[in-house]
Amino acid sequence: MAKNKIPARLHLDEDEIPKAWYNVRADMKEKHEPFLHPGTGKPCTARDLEGVFCPSLVKQELDQDTRLIPIPDGLLEFYRSMRPSPLIRARFLEEYLGTPAEIYYKFEGNNTSGSHKLNSAAAQVYYAKQEGLTSLTTETGAGQWGTALAMACAFYGVKLTVYMVKISSEQKPYRKAVIETYGANLIPSPSDTTEIGKKILAADPNTGGSLGCAISEAIETAVKTDKCRYVLGSVLDHVILHQSIIGQECKAAFQKYGVATPDIIIGCAGGGSNLGGLISPFIGDKIKGNSATRFIAVEPASCPSMTRGRFAYDFGDTGRTTPLLKMYTLGSGFMPSANHAGGLRYHGMSPIISKLYRDGYIEARAEEQTAVFDAAVKFAKVEGILPAPESAHAIKAAIDEAVECKRTDEKKTILFGLTGTGYFDLSAYISYNNKTMTDYIPSDAELQKGFDSLPNI
Ligand SMILES: *Cc1c(COP(=O)(O)O)cnc(C)c1O
Repeated sequence: MAKNKIPARLHLDEDEIPKAWYNVRADMKEKHEPFLHPGTGKPCTARDLEGVFCPSLVKQELDQDTRLIPIPDGLLEFYRSMRPSPLIRARFLEEYLGTPAEIYYKFEGNNTSGSHKLNSAAAQVYYAKQEGLTSLTTETGAGQWGTALAMACAFYGVKLTVYMVKISSEQKPYRKAVIETYGANLIPSPSDTTEIGKKILAADPNTGGSLGCAISEAIETAVKTDKCRYVLGSVLDHVILHQSIIGQECKAAFQKYGVATPDIIIGCAGGGSNLGGLISPFIGDKIKGNSATRFIAVEPASCPSMTRGRFAYDFGDTGRTTPLLKMYTLGSGFMPSANHAGGLRYHGMSPIISKLYRDGYIEARAEEQTAVFDAAVKFAKVEGILPAPESAHAIKAAIDEAVECKRTDEKKTILFGLTGTGYFDLSAYISYNNKTMTDYIPSDAELQKGFDSLPNI
């Protein structure tokens, strides 16, 4: 049977790891709108950004034209310790669903941070070290980014302060413990170590915090500290550039094994980095008119930035300190409901993904969390890997598409990003198992409160 000719794992050798990142902006017919300086309302220059971000990352951020950007040797060495990541044929899931579709997933959870975030963390710390910076600050929500960055900082010898959303640091003490084990200084946010933190605490002493608020604190500390910069794990163009290693590897492996380009590629979408990285090389082909692949972004129904958000200039953080980004957003004042356990809580969406969605290259759908966990558990039982709740959004859509193929008797090829593992999300699995997990869909009136926080621009 032809089905069995393709191995369970589409393995790449070490020397087949791509040596360059793919910059999708080089092939986009229209680029996304420029970042605006919040003070002047004018497009940000490299100088505006270099006070906050590492200069080489700013250069990558503003480079809209170089198609392939070489991965430095000192970073490739680190990548080789954990890459290529497995690209796996989901044969057991196919069998379980009785679908004629071929399903593949790219598994990025094979490192201690448990997610794709290490791809960009390592790159960012590598450049910071090269530039002579001695410390970095960042925020983390669920904790995967903080862990990835703590690992990279330990490896390259750079100090790190992580502002962790307070409610997450309380709900995920083991996440906090891993981050601290790698030597990072972890501060639950909001905190009294920054002016913005004090202000937010004064307004609401019992707040559980938010990603946007933790970002504001991390930026404030970076700006106040000598030889220190702020780094971000998603949303920005250079992060998507680093994550393009995911899609590049998929493409190389499909070519190696003679698998046709997938008909459907699916990724979960929080800030858009794994999705952007997975689809970049494939969407480049679509823009050039060489492919008919469908791209699907999956987001939580409780934080629906693409499916119900506005396409507008907005701040990246609650403290309204970042440059303004043109993106799909729920407003920087939006806070997802406290019972939302599935991750992907960010109010906005990467400008690249937003633009591709706006221009009709990407579809988006929103899923409720109990349905997402149903899909996660089905997948875990047949394929063995316990998925991160974030990743399970993509699993849900992949299952739905495979079931649709069964109905229409079509043998499509489906690829989805399995971004990480769920070992640190067991409290969410507990609430799913004991049926206390609920769904929450914000009303239009609730979303309006977030939209009211959009800047007038
Ligand atoms: C952070 C994270 C996501 C969402 O972030 P994106 O930038 O949208 O990719 C998805 N899955 C896992 C496992 C994560 O850690």
